[in-house]
Amino acid sequence: LTGQQVQLGGWGMMAHSRAEVLQPDSVSAAQLAVSDAGRRRRTAIPRGSGFSYGDAALNGNSLVLDTRRLSRIIGLDGQGLVEVEAGVTIGDLCRFATRRGWWPPVVPGTGRPTLGGCVGANVHGKNAYIVGTFGEHVQELDLVLPDGSLLTCSEEREPDVFRAVIGGYGLLGVIVRMRMRLERQPSRLMVEEIAAPHLTSIMHILSGSLGPSDHAVAWIDACAQGEGRGRGIVQLARNLNGDSGGSDREVGRSGRRPFTRLRSALWPLLLILRTNQGVGALNSARYELAALNSGRTSIGPRERYQFFHDFIPDWRRAFRPGGVLQYQMFVPKECANEVFLACLEAAQEIKQAPILAVLKRHRTDPALLSYGVDGYSLSLDFPVTSTGLPSLRDALHRLTDEVVLPAGGRFYLAKDSILTPDQAGRSLGLDALGQFLAIKRRIDPGTLFQSDLYRRLFAPLALG
Ligand SMILES: Cc1cc2nc3c(=O)[nH]c(=O)nc-3n(C[C@H](O)[C@H](O)[C@H](O)COP(=O)(O)OP(=O)(O)OC[C@H]3O[C@@H](n4cnc5c(N)ncnc54)[C@H](O)[C@@H]3O)c2cc1C
Repeated sequence: LTGQQVQLGGWGMMAHSRAEVLQPDSVSAAQLAVSDAGRRRRTAIPRGSGFSYGDAALNGNSLVLDTRRLSRIIGLDGQGLVEVEAGVTIGDLCRFATRRGWWPPVVPGTGRPTLGGCVGANVHGKNAYIVGTFGEHVQELDLVLPDGSLLTCSEEREPDVFRAVIGGYGLLGVIVRMRMRLERQPSRLMVEEIAAPHLTSIMHILSGSLGPSDHAVAWIDACAQGEGRGRGIVQLARNLNGDSGGSDREVGRSGRRPFTRLRSALWPLLLILRTNQGVGALNSARYELAALNSGRTSIGPRERYQFFHDFIPDWRRAFRPGGVLQYQMFVPKECANEVFLACLEAAQEIKQAPILAVLKRHRTDPALLSYGVDGYSLSLDFPVTSTGLPSLRDALHRLTDEVVLPAGGRFYLAKDSILTPDQAGRSLGLDALGQFLAIKRRIDPGTLFQSDLYRRLFAPLALG
């Protein structure tokens, strides 16, 4: 079996490597591709849509198994249990489900990732504080092992493997099929926007001070200083109960993704964010406008709210060629306010304004390599330039070592490009990492499954 040599990148455009790409279109073809890789003594990593920011789905000078042709939705029963192949995108599953009055309990901020990628990174949504992470709603997985055989795992069968594969970054095998639970959800949401004058008030609202919400997220003005540091706009969304699936008209609307071509042409507008002044001006305007309308509610299709990042498809093009570096930290609630203020201050000191800063609330989860905390996450998207990168990297390393990790903070490897092995070990916990590597030695003794991320972060710890 030979594939094409392709130069691949992470979504953030900072990490690149060349690999031979195979695109199996059936479970048996995936099994053959893996066993053949073993025979040829090559390493391999599964890849979905390539929406992880860094090197998680890259495997330089070896094999990448692109799973997007495993794209069948096999069946949905009356209880909302859906059986799917791993290359189906979360957006396609949502469109299939919403027409029938269902919706996946957890979706990330874009509909483009595959379900295999959602399990591989154990993604979270804006409701992580209520429903946890993606893997908590998966009932069963079929995994292709290094010898090409299939292992079915679940909470009942091979539970240790099951908990390690969820958030295991493709390092234990290729997920080819899964069964997961959908929820009965209305197709529309009611969203309230509240302007909050500083970080403390944002955290207060996200902690539920204005009453329960089904989803909550805050956009932060990362350029605001002094008393207003960390000010922003909180969006609280509630399911519109009483509407079990939406009328045909609503469903048609949410399924059609209107004006995609027009919206695709909007990315040059974001070129304004390439300067600190541009980010500052846009942030101020956005905050002031929201302050005028604070408390306003609107009703809209669930998909539009959930897949916020798809409003301008492929918006990263505005940040070529340097790319986008995301720094997302997860911090226990007791320290989150203090840690986030320190991070915002550090970004201001090095004069590199994040183009996007987003705060969410979380809870812990049972994945072996969990990044979950009973607390909050702040993600900062920095545009990268060759002149700015060294000082940005230094500042983020200092923050990681001196502020985030000592506070019990964790990092999410789907968004990472810069952690060191030592920092990754402290973030994931050496005990959990040891258990993960022991499971890997058991089911992948020849270390067939490897990625650039594995060689950057895990292999040095496995050897050490
Ligand atoms: C604009 C944007 C917004 C985002 N928003 C969120 C968000 O709100 N919440 C969140 O949690 N994440 C978010 N992400 C991250 C994204 O959801 C994850 O990186 C997800 O893993 C991407 O899925 P993918 O199919 O592109 O996987 P890839 O990036 O291709 O792969 C991700 C990892 O999963 C593994 N993998 C892929 N397929 C399989 C398989 N079949 N079997 C085993 N392992 C597999 C890969 O080896 C790799 O380690 C966002 C990313 C972007 C670019």
